Amino acid sequence: MFLNKRTIVKSAEKLKALFLDLIFPVECLGCNKEGMWFCHDCFKKIQLKDSQYCLHCKKENNFGEFCEDCKEDYFLDGVWIAGDYEDKLIAELIKSLKYRFMRELSGTLGRFLSLFLRDLINKNRLVNRDLENGKIWRRLEKIKGSPEVFLNLKESLIIPVPLHKKRKRWRGFNQAEIIARELKNYFDIDMSTEKLIRIKHKKAQAKLGEEERKNNIKNCFGWQGDRLNKRNIILVDDVVTTGSTLNECAKVLKENGAGEVWGLVVAKG
Ligand SMILES: [Zn+2]
Ligand SMILES: [Zn+2]
Repeated sequence: MFLNKRTIVKSAEKLKALFLDLIFPVECLGCNKEGMWFCHDCFKKIQLKDSQYCLHCKKENNFGEFCEDCKEDYFLDGVWIAGDYEDKLIAELIKSLKYRFMRELSGTLGRFLSLFLRDLINKNRLVNRDLENGKIWRRLEKIKGSPEVFLNLKESLIIPVPLHKKRKRWRGFNQAEIIARELKNYFDIDMSTEKLIRIKHKKAQAKLGEEERKNNIKNCFGWQGDRLNKRNIILVDDVVTTGSTLNECAKVLKENGAGEVWGLVVAKG
């Protein structure tokens, strides 16, 4: 039998999948039903977060924007948080994605983010027409206070928070990228995965305090694309903590001409 390299790699992948299935039989993380990693019934049970707030001072508002007093400290315009980490299903999904490398779950989280964003748009009485380019001014009065990004949603650009290439190779995938891809398909918005890059891989943020996080992440990102000409950006990640990673990305994007930059995450860790 002739075996080329591709066949061997493919067989090795299958063997690995088979082996993993032996240790972890495929069953729903929520209800243990066999056959899939996250079933439809459990998906319907995940709660969309029904209120947004300023990430800095935690004051509630409509869009998760930073309030006047807080925004001086940020390049980011605001953060949309789709769900609650206290929701057991969400916590389970995020942990399994991070520590068990379950790539399939990124799709589930991506669908969840899409539904959330649709809901946030509906709740603020924006309709489809508002999301198309060129219709901005007609309805501006009715939707006063709405971020520019919503009025021009289809023209914005989705960017997943990048991993350093070494880390991506080690994990096998960037979870933010797969989550973002679902969103791109749902709303039919452009996505860029190659231009915002992570230049440095510093120590993990998880064990650091707020100030240390800021310093640790400083100058870790770079932009390798054309000028952004005021294009609005939606930055996608799985979780936000203090917002320092999203904010560093926003800094680089704005230095390169971005308009508004919003973070969209599954939950606050
Ligand atoms: Zn289930
Ligand atoms: Zn605030």
